[in-house]
Amino acid sequence: MTGVSTPSGREDQGRWQRALRAQFPIVTGHPELAYLDSAATAQKPQAVLDAVQRYLTTSNANAARGTYTWANRTTELVERTRGRVARFLGDERPERSVVQFTGGTTEGLRTIARDWLPGFLRDGDEIVVPDADHQANIVPWLEAQRSLAREGVHVRVVPMPYQSGSGDYDHRALAERAGPRTRFVATTHVHHVYGGDMNVHRIREAVGPDAVICLDAAQSVGHLPVSVAELDVDFVVFSGHKALALPGSGAVWARQARGPEFVPGGWSGTPNTVGVASLEAALDWLEAAGVDRIERWTADLAARLTEGLRRLDAYEVLGCPLSLAADSTVQRRRGIVTLRHRAIDSGDLGFILFSHGFMVRSDHHCQGDAGEKTGSVRVSLHVYNTVEEVDRLLSVLASLT
Ligand code: PLP
Repeated sequence: MTGVSTPSGREDQGRWQRALRAQFPIVTGHPELAYLDSAATAQKPQAVLDAVQRYLTTSNANAARGTYTWANRTTELVERTRGRVARFLGDERPERSVVQFTGGTTEGLRTIARDWLPGFLRDGDEIVVPDADHQANIVPWLEAQRSLAREGVHVRVVPMPYQSGSGDYDHRALAERAGPRTRFVATTHVHHVYGGDMNVHRIREAVGPDAVICLDAAQSVGHLPVSVAELDVDFVVFSGHKALALPGSGAVWARQARGPEFVPGGWSGTPNTVGVASLEAALDWLEAAGVDRIERWTADLAARLTEGLRRLDAYEVLGCPLSLAADSTVQRRRGIVTLRHRAIDSGDLGFILFSHGFMVRSDHHCQGDAGEKTGSVRVSLHVYNTVEEVDRLLSVLASLT
């Protein structure tokens, strides 16, 4: 925060953001609307649109099948982008990892559950999954348990209430439930409703050095620096479309250390090469923009919104009531703020907000424990969102109290 909280720091940050926002045609083309649903899918910068067009007009061919220029370029694109993903994830030993392209996080997690997990688990092993996670990170493990021919493989869907104050899951539940039989933990990185991070190091401490940790990074890749060198995890799974690339793109990064090798699907079947081209451009764009600055920008907007909501008695903010002081040691909220009006149904609130030009998500957000039984409205932010949008949203919300 140092530097950014000074007036000149804020000015620089404002200039930087305006220059980036200007690169999103759908955003600048609709000034009457505010897109606040980036946790569902993110908008695409011109560089990604250009990369897709360039690929389709200069190189489109199938990968690893031809002996001519376009096919070779496509093969190179796919191989190059595997390396790009590894570098983007801070992988310092790419020779000891693999990257497989997928259609997104759901497909990536399913692939691990279907293709890798059976070769890893032994009779009596236990898989631990937090119950508050997105269903995409719960269902595949339950399905794997059903289809595994292993005796007594057990999936524990552990209640992990979100802790007020720290913005972190309550790790006591996991520490209490995890034991010597826990060999696989699948957990979200940034929570898609509460907007705080899972403290992955605490999970590692709880499960020990031999368990495999699989990180659902759908809400973190592209939003904050994610470093596999720093996080002692074995899988990182993310969706390209939430990281500014096209829908139908995404990747699994796998460290080949614990358990059997994760063998990518290889070249059988045609990969989504347009998606791969978009992913390469999106990761280049994010890196040039500065993922750490994007992290700060969206956290600042979320903090502003949360602070404003705290002054409005009619609203409840779900998840972590974080301290917002710049020097706070308390973990900061990411760019997701989920709220509920004490009297207005969340679906109705979503419609009312859209009548004012705000696009938000209102329902149960595919949360595994259906913890938000009455539904809620999620505001999720990206680098193209502005202070003015947040202030305008707050004034509309205030008019509904
Ligand atoms: N995991 C989390 C935390 C998510 O937020 C989402 C989507 O919202 C998913 C998984 C599923 O992602 P996708 O629909 O791209 O497969």
